[in-house]
Amino acid sequence: MMLSESFDNDRKTAPVGRFAPSPTGPLHFGTLLAAVGSYCLARQRGGQWLMRIEDLDSPRVVPGSAASILHALEAFGFEWDGPIVYQSERSAAYEAALDRLRQEHLVYDCGCSRKEILASAPHHGEEGPRYPGTCRDGLSSGRPLRALRLRVPDRLFCFNDAVFGLTEQRLADAVGDFVLKRADGMYAYQLAVVVDDHDAGVTQVVRGADLLGSTVRQIYLHSCLGYCAPDYLHLPLALSPDGMKLSKRNDPVGLQGEVGSSGPLLRALRFLNQSLPLEGIEMQPHEVLAWAVKIFDIAKIPRALSLLDQDGLISEVK
Ligand code: GLU
Repeated sequence: MMLSESFDNDRKTAPVGRFAPSPTGPLHFGTLLAAVGSYCLARQRGGQWLMRIEDLDSPRVVPGSAASILHALEAFGFEWDGPIVYQSERSAAYEAALDRLRQEHLVYDCGCSRKEILASAPHHGEEGPRYPGTCRDGLSSGRPLRALRLRVPDRLFCFNDAVFGLTEQRLADAVGDFVLKRADGMYAYQLAVVVDDHDAGVTQVVRGADLLGSTVRQIYLHSCLGYCAPDYLHLPLALSPDGMKLSKRNDPVGLQGEVGSSGPLLRALRFLNQSLPLEGIEMQPHEVLAWAVKIFDIAKIPRALSLLDQDGLISEVK
């Protein structure tokens, strides 16, 4: 069986996809890729495509950028289903999930500062500093509460990504017990994304490969909460010519000059190695998107973590 065949084929009903941008700047090419991929793969099978604004990390939120991203998406011809979900309005749902994990004794209070965790080197996991488990058996008296952490078992987890195939991670080594909520009240992305995807009935997650390493944490959280995890498909990341990941932070202008034109959509299709409409035919963005929905083929997506060409010229793949 080809990997791509496992994506969603086992499910009997139409898929529910989603797009979940963080409002940290204008829409840029990297985010557009995730929009195109998630949209095509949801619509291709008659599914829904939901919109969620991930505005939990308030210091990083740039005022006005959610509206600018949504406006750009509309100008490119994207249409989403149902109301837009804002993570900043979902604290009650995250707290209810935490209560459930508390009842199962899966979470514990942690008093360690980032500095202390960093000082515990060489415990450096593949996803950054690995929490060494200092507070697992209880917070020593007098230590301030800094975070709530999820206990992770010492075993190997794996999942089948529709592009990257069988992906393995030993959570205990890669990250250790991870944070779900900070003492200042901020919920972690890992918790929010799981609760949001579950509550919205999302069945397929299509996003950039920078989140491949977070996926096992999310699948494990789904299981701790008794949820059925969605299917995952990660897309290669676009790198700028200097080899940096294209993001709202290193590309502050984004696609602004081209919003509403077909060029960025065609570049996204080229980048994802999809068939292009015949050259010489003028197409409006919504026509390019309608074409993309018809022809989008998972099997053609390059299986590379990142590609060094934001113009979509794929030179070497794999
Ligand atoms: N908010 C994340 C981003 O803008 C995407 C999260 C996700 O798709 O799970 O990169």
